[in-house]
Amino acid sequence: MRIILFGPPGAGKGTQARRLERNRGLEQIATGDIIRTAMKNETPVGLEAKSYVEKGELVPDEVVRKLAENAIAERGLDDFILDGYPRTTQQAEWLTEFEEKNEAPIHACISLQVPDDVIVDRLSKRRVHRQTGTTYHLDHNPPPEDVDADMIIQRDDDRPATVRNRLNVYREETQPLEDYYEGRGLLVRVDGTGDIKDVYQRINGVLDDLA
Ligand code: ADP
Ligand code: ADP
Repeated sequence: MRIILFGPPGAGKGTQARRLERNRGLEQIATGDIIRTAMKNETPVGLEAKSYVEKGELVPDEVVRKLAENAIAERGLDDFILDGYPRTTQQAEWLTEFEEKNEAPIHACISLQVPDDVIVDRLSKRRVHRQTGTTYHLDHNPPPEDVDADMIIQRDDDRPATVRNRLNVYREETQPLEDYYEGRGLLVRVDGTGDIKDVYQRINGVLDDLA
């Protein structure tokens, strides 16, 4: 099954994608994670992306297209979940071309619906493990006690000024893609509020219906 997990920054895409990977064998392809790894390793892509990510801007479409298409090709075309891609109309159109060329159509675009006040809470209290990238939330999903506290950090782009810009960018450039996928008959809106496991059950139900 080929799925897009869609929604604003902090909606819970990564959290849910990792659960779907564990429980349903769908490979998570998160362009944000790929970009952060490239930045950490100071690869040419990482160096190019850095200034955009730090400001909360989108990395140029051509750069992300290559990362996403290579990642899909590496993992295989059958079972994946796109987390954070596509994020612009151009990226969505390229993805549609990719689907056609490879005869690998997307089955659904699941859009997590989360109000702004919840988003701001989730992003301001998001913490990540420096090495594994595992995501926590200070209140709802705190790091276990046996995890070294020094390894738990806040992403630079989760600080308030950058968060504001990321939300504006989401509204202007990414949210319109809901219409694009609605037009293709692929959009499924899912309530993204409530416990992590409740949101998971809702998504799982949608995927069961598609299977
Ligand atoms: P979040 O999980 O909060 O939505 P991500 O980890 O997906 O954030 O993305 C972090 C940053 O990486 C984005 O703010 C953007 O700069 C860059 N990025 C990730 N995916 C894309 C994409 N599809 N197009 C352009 N930039 C991207
Ligand atoms: P995204 O990938 O969409 O940016 P994340 O999966 O990283 O979002 O989640 C953002 C923050 O919110 C993280 O701190 C995560 O632990 C927390 N979180 C995710 N889903 C929920 C939920 N249903 N209830 C409470 N906190 C959540």
